[in-house]
Amino acid sequence: MIRALWFLAKVAIVVAIAVWLADRPGTVSINWQGYVVETSFGIAVLIAVAALGAAALLYRFVRALIRAPRNIGRYSRSRRRERGYKALTRGMVAVAAGDAATARKMARKADGLLNEPPLTMLLSAQAAQLQGDDRAAKEYFTAMLDRPETAFLGLRGLLTQAIKSGDRVEALQLARRAQSLQPNTPWLLGTLYDLEARAGDWAAAEGTLQQAIQAGAINPEEGRRHRAALLLERSFEAERRGRGDAALSHAQAAHDLLPGFIPAAARAARLLVRAGKHKHAAKTVERAWRAGPHPDLTDAYREVIDGYDPLTRVKLFEKLRNLAPNDVESHISVARASLDAQLWGEARAHLNKALEIQPSRRLYRLLADLERAEHNDEEAARAWLAQAAAAPSDPAWTCDACNAVSHGWGGLCGHCGAFDSLQWKAPTMTVSLMAPETSPAIAHQPHSAALPQSAS
Ligand SMILES: [Zn+2]
Repeated sequence: MIRALWFLAKVAIVVAIAVWLADRPGTVSINWQGYVVETSFGIAVLIAVAALGAAALLYRFVRALIRAPRNIGRYSRSRRRERGYKALTRGMVAVAAGDAATARKMARKADGLLNEPPLTMLLSAQAAQLQGDDRAAKEYFTAMLDRPETAFLGLRGLLTQAIKSGDRVEALQLARRAQSLQPNTPWLLGTLYDLEARAGDWAAAEGTLQQAIQAGAINPEEGRRHRAALLLERSFEAERRGRGDAALSHAQAAHDLLPGFIPAAARAARLLVRAGKHKHAAKTVERAWRAGPHPDLTDAYREVIDGYDPLTRVKLFEKLRNLAPNDVESHISVARASLDAQLWGEARAHLNKALEIQPSRRLYRLLADLERAEHNDEEAARAWLAQAAAAPSDPAWTCDACNAVSHGWGGLCGHCGAFDSLQWKAPTMTVSLMAPETSPAIAHQPHSAALPQSAS
């Protein structure tokens, strides 16, 4: 509407000018070098206007001609970028969908079209990884280290590769380098802690563990247990270096941190005995016994009260039993002390009570021992042993990560190298790290080495 009005106004102005000129006739005469041109003033104005119009058109044409190459370049560049980003997007979708061939194809295409190395390198690396081409992926990740904006991502890729290939030394170096770039990244702190612990760098692992807990990578409860395990390993290390006082203080710190953590209580008690603090040692075992009786605590308590005669030892084990009177382990501990003291009736009574609560291989073996010791009855003993073979397996220190069974607690799994992965539970019998003479026949033994444990 406004356009139409504006057009009408322009027409009106032109008409008005034409009328005005027609009302005022006159001539224009040009005399140049002997040429004479004479025309009316109106025509002269018309020619002048037409000439100006032609000049303007010519100017526009020439300008467009000069700018053409640049405009064509700009257009083709934007088309290229558009196609590049499209390829990048399709490549990322292919990575997410696990389509390695398309991912690689799109990565190559995007790399050719786009001048965005950080984006295309990452896609190329991921595509190569997806295709199982670890060498190409490594090259891309390594190239990413040269640019500050991609260095961390490159390190992450290399770190993942190193862990996957089992090269823990390389992995630890990469994790430390990545941490220097981004110190508070939760996943990195969790990984670094794990690598340091597996490498046996206990002090560093303890520091990283604290950071990982603060960053939310490891929950505080799990973190406390890891810390207790680290303290125990420091205690073993101190002992290896002949520093008995440090060995004891680390073990006690672990026990104080987690009173129900059996390995810490048992070790602290043993080291207290060695330091001549028997009363304190007894208290340590009692405290843990209250939280949950355990065969390792029984063994530690036997060392604590080793100086007493067998009958007194039975009385002391009875006292210990009263802290958890109805636990199967409580009955077994008194039964074992009674066997040592040749109190056959007492031993049998407690073994029977234990049998009522939870039959197990160990219990049947003790009953067989009793038959041999009390009556020298080999036939009865064999009958109990036959029952032992059919009974469910006893709990043992079993690796959560690989199911390997260890004859004692250690910070590192002797089979898969995981840290703080041993749990007291019935093994599923995949791998056994037990000493050969106690190893059940059903378990195969790919690695016969026992845990790297310094306590024994
Ligand atoms: Zn393991």
